[in-house]
Amino acid sequence: MMSHEVAKLINEQINKEFYSAYLYLDMANFYSERDLDGFANYFRIQAMEERDHAMKFLDYLAENNEAISLEAIAKPEADRSSLMAPLVQALKHEEFVTASIHNIYSAAIEAADYRSQRFLGWFIDEQGEEEASARALIAKMELFGDENAKGGLYLLNQELAARSYSPAE
Ligand code: MG
Repeated sequence: MMSHEVAKLINEQINKEFYSAYLYLDMANFYSERDLDGFANYFRIQAMEERDHAMKFLDYLAENNEAISLEAIAKPEADRSSLMAPLVQALKHEEFVTASIHNIYSAAIEAADYRSQRFLGWFIDEQGEEEASARALIAKMELFGDENAKGGLYLLNQELAARSYSPAE
């Protein structure tokens, strides 16, 4: 049986993952409004992955016969101050999510909840990848995204347009 604390934190994490999806959709809209459809594609796919994360947490509670409580999702506010701003915000947000998942893992250790520790291991690896790709995108934007040298931005937009969605196993 899952500890009450771990179940409560996973319930809260479902909301954080759906909020992430919402935030990334807001970022996709920001780029789409500026005709940067490649950047928009990147964040739309990011949003679909976040929805998948939410469902993974939800399914885990359901499989373990825990009550699921869905709360309201907060209004997302993408930082619209520059083309770079959402990328930096996305990295900060992923670091926040990583800390949140590490906190659940700590609770699972405290509760000697071994099954949840194994379940959360997937997310700990995933967060490492999320942070790395957010950092890589910022680095590319610094190199190529200068709004005064639009050739680079055009190429980066094309690269991001090629990203395709594949559901996590
Ligand atoms: Mg996530």
